[in-house]
Amino acid sequence: MSDSSFKNLQISNVTKDILLIHQFKPPFYFSCCDGLLILPQKGRNSQTIVLDLNIEPEYAQAINKKYGPISDYVNTHGHMDHVAHVHAWEQLGVKIHAPFPESNNLLNLRNFYEIFGWNEGVDFLLVEKFGEINKYKACNEVTAFEPGATLQFEDFTCETINFKGHSRSHVGFLLPSEEVFHISCLGFDQVNPEKDGFGPWYGFKQCSIDQYLEDISLAELIFLEKAKLLTSSHSYIVKNPDITPFEYMREKIKKNQELVDQGLKSLNQNLEVEMKIKNLLEMDIIFPKRKMKGFLPELYNFWEKGFIEKHVQRSRIK
Ligand SMILES: [Zn+2]
Repeated sequence: MSDSSFKNLQISNVTKDILLIHQFKPPFYFSCCDGLLILPQKGRNSQTIVLDLNIEPEYAQAINKKYGPISDYVNTHGHMDHVAHVHAWEQLGVKIHAPFPESNNLLNLRNFYEIFGWNEGVDFLLVEKFGEINKYKACNEVTAFEPGATLQFEDFTCETINFKGHSRSHVGFLLPSEEVFHISCLGFDQVNPEKDGFGPWYGFKQCSIDQYLEDISLAELIFLEKAKLLTSSHSYIVKNPDITPFEYMREKIKKNQELVDQGLKSLNQNLEVEMKIKNLLEMDIIFPKRKMKGFLPELYNFWEKGFIEKHVQRSRIK
């Protein structure tokens, strides 16, 4: 099993004993995320530690077989691409850690529904379908930590940095001794330098663009001052002092603002804000909803509303 499993995994060395793992062909767009394996090192950690590697069960098993035993798994936040398959690691006897309160999303899809405010816009049935296409399964037990806490596993130190523009308990990982900085889901999603991506994601009510811009600046500062290498949930490895990730993320937010501003300019200025947002949503500015099938347009409409409301609020076009 493991040989064929490895064909669907990309394994890159970040340092000689830290690996970045990526699963090709996830079951759905939001099913998986890249993460790090901290291999054992004498005087640091006697067992492998997994940082936010949400991949399908057969791949978790293959990794465990080749690089195990694994003692601990640390999750970065409660979005679907970071929670769907964590149960697979738990099944292998790994202790699961996650930031509070989104740690609860690993235990029950209802929590995922309520914590992000889906309940204000869509039916739970829709979120159940979303869970199904991403193959979500719940964990039995999760050890919660406060976002911003420093985690210690034997002599391995992992500082968590709260980047809450993306979600309330979203954290990045700074590994001070290894000088590696994992910015998690902040929004640098270029799989290689030539390939464009979607950029920062701030579709839920609790997300904030102002906070996002602060988070990007903080991440840039930490990277330049404290790390040699940068990794993230959906990207290639970046070397200090390359600041591409931060420029990319700021540019994406700016472009979204321009798109919304253009849309606003095309509308009758006397319309109520609610009507303006309704009209903007029909333009498919952020997501190509018209091309989607089944329950997906409704789901994306909910997210896009989150994006558009925030940009309308910031717009100078009134
Ligand atoms: Zn996320």
